[in-house]
Amino acid sequence: MLTDSYGRTATDLRVSLTDRCNLRCSYCMPAEGLDWLPKPELLTDDELVRLLDLAVTQLGITEIRFTGGEPLLRRGLPGIVERVAAMRPRPGIAMTTNGIGLDRLAGPLQAAGLDRINVSLDTVSASTFVKLARRDRLADVLAGIAAAAAAGLAPVKVNAVLMRGVNDHEAAELLRFCLEHGYQLRFIEQMPLDAQHGWRRDEMVTAEEILAALSAEFVLDPGDEELRGSAPAETFLVNGGPQTVGIIASVTRPFCGSCDRIRLTADGQLRNCLFARSENDLRTPLRAGASDAELVAQWQSCIEAKLPGHGINDPGFLQPARPMSAIGG
Ligand code: SAM
Ligand code: SF4
Repeated sequence: MLTDSYGRTATDLRVSLTDRCNLRCSYCMPAEGLDWLPKPELLTDDELVRLLDLAVTQLGITEIRFTGGEPLLRRGLPGIVERVAAMRPRPGIAMTTNGIGLDRLAGPLQAAGLDRINVSLDTVSASTFVKLARRDRLADVLAGIAAAAAAGLAPVKVNAVLMRGVNDHEAAELLRFCLEHGYQLRFIEQMPLDAQHGWRRDEMVTAEEILAALSAEFVLDPGDEELRGSAPAETFLVNGGPQTVGIIASVTRPFCGSCDRIRLTADGQLRNCLFARSENDLRTPLRAGASDAELVAQWQSCIEAKLPGHGINDPGFLQPARPMSAIGG
């Protein structure tokens, strides 16, 4: 088991499949993009599957979420999903995506074994989308979400980040859209993980503000905290339910005490936290012919070093060198 020195056990592995992306969301990347990782540094499908198999069969990982960068840009993605679905005990398989290309891939991914999907959608206005993501792709994202629901990946979860002065006036409109379509909306507080280090605490839209904006139009009843477990979202019943809205208040109401996650980057580095300032290199020993036991020891040493919290609210907080897109959100 991957248990840290504070007694938390990691069972949920987030896997970044690529750091590349076809959008340029301003809370994530600069307009010009980033220097992508060179291909030889990326884990091959076989290397990745070996590490995931180890995680599932020897380290107690029960849930694998593929992310990025944009995971749909990874070639052979359905093949990777299929190989993970064949592992025993079979892990739950989820994905976080911007939805571009999902209209074609939702069916094949579901057939390969994908169980759940989160699609990021910050606005339903085409002009706001261009402002925020710097690409005119709203129609593709909406088609992707609809295809995911049609392929049986329902209920589709929708992730939204609000940016002050850009889409913070659209929270209620986004919820209305998701309720109409049967999508489960979750707002995520903006975190200091953008490559250009543009995050400012006094500019971020807080959970409190999001709740206030939604409450002007909807009746929100808090869900049962007891049932929340390690889920990052606080959920609220909307207008008496059954539909809900979630708020992931990573900054103003951190949930590190119940964290059950660990992360693997596309270049084979293991991270015990989004905000970790160190990584355990799995790729070098893997390529040097390490045994399973040697690789397991790397996972153990990574989890043992996990800190109690992300420290965003500490005066000495330092943003990690790797941006969100290269860690895997
Ligand atoms: N490209 C995919 C997508 O956008 O869903 C997967 C990777 S993206 C890094 C994963 C999630 O992180 C998305 O829901 C995105 O909105 C969120 N995200 C990115 N940068 C963020 C930030 N600075 N603060 C909070 N959430 C962020
Ligand atoms: Fe790409 Fe996702 Fe980052 Fe947006 S949040 S730029 S879609 S990786």
